[in-house]
Amino acid sequence: MAERRIVVGMDIGGSKIAAAVVSEQGEILNQESIVTEAERGFEHGLRRIEALLGRLLARAPGQPVAIGIGCAGPVDPARGTIDNPYTLPTWDGVNIVRPLRERFGVPVALENDADAAAMGEVWLGAGHGGRIVVMVTIGTGIGGAVILDGQIYRGIDGAHPEIGHQCLDPAGPPCYCGARGCWESLASGTAIANAARAQMPAWAGASIDGASVIRRARRGDPIAVDVVDRAAQATARAVFNLVNLYVPEIVVLGGGVMDAYDLFEPALRETLACDTMAPIAAIRVERAALGNDAGIVGAARIALDIQCARTCM
Ligand SMILES: [Zn+2]
Repeated sequence: MAERRIVVGMDIGGSKIAAAVVSEQGEILNQESIVTEAERGFEHGLRRIEALLGRLLARAPGQPVAIGIGCAGPVDPARGTIDNPYTLPTWDGVNIVRPLRERFGVPVALENDADAAAMGEVWLGAGHGGRIVVMVTIGTGIGGAVILDGQIYRGIDGAHPEIGHQCLDPAGPPCYCGARGCWESLASGTAIANAARAQMPAWAGASIDGASVIRRARRGDPIAVDVVDRAAQATARAVFNLVNLYVPEIVVLGGGVMDAYDLFEPALRETLACDTMAPIAAIRVERAALGNDAGIVGAARIALDIQCARTCM
């Protein structure tokens, strides 16, 4: 039997690194996660990543043809560097592509994690078959990506569009990016928790996160209901802006906060019914289908594409 073509897909976040061996059909053959431990420096992280990939490949049905990485951005795909002082401060400016290419002897591609998740959803998830797809991940922060004809949209110098930092309220809460009232500062899990603490001083010392506020909203707590409703209104306005800007076929909404998609859906439906010049009725808004696997599946797709680009000429 011919050996199956396999790749490695890896998803690097501030708290967790997930990697998988993936077939060219997108099937996850084996998978493992480790804690990032970014505070212990990049050399420590690189050794643990190499060990992680070594364990996965020891159980794989052959050698991978490429490795794809989606990493919490900003990243520089052309240089292979992580440029993220926010969630990976000790890794800022490091090149992760070169050492892995030398260690495993295959092409290695690095992309922003939002781009990787979008590639996963377009390949095998809620964006499947879409020619123009906007994917937004609403979790601790808000990241987004635009996929055009199966390719990641890039701006000047390859820059990644910062969809989560579109300003929705210039008088809104400050965002770490330097602006105020970004979508991320109004509707991310962090923003939801901050808004709940601000409205309810008694919660100030409690360990509140977005998920716990959403649980309180489901139980009918009026402050939590109000906070989640504001996040839903901001999200609906942001998606309305995206459909006007990009006129995509599909908008995919994923990330941990979208576990509460049902609480956001009424605001989305109401706002998207507003008059606009874009053919909004033809645009589908879908909840992401791949869950936490979108990043590694998309990174695997990126790996297959780079391997093909280098050998299928
Ligand atoms: Zn911002």
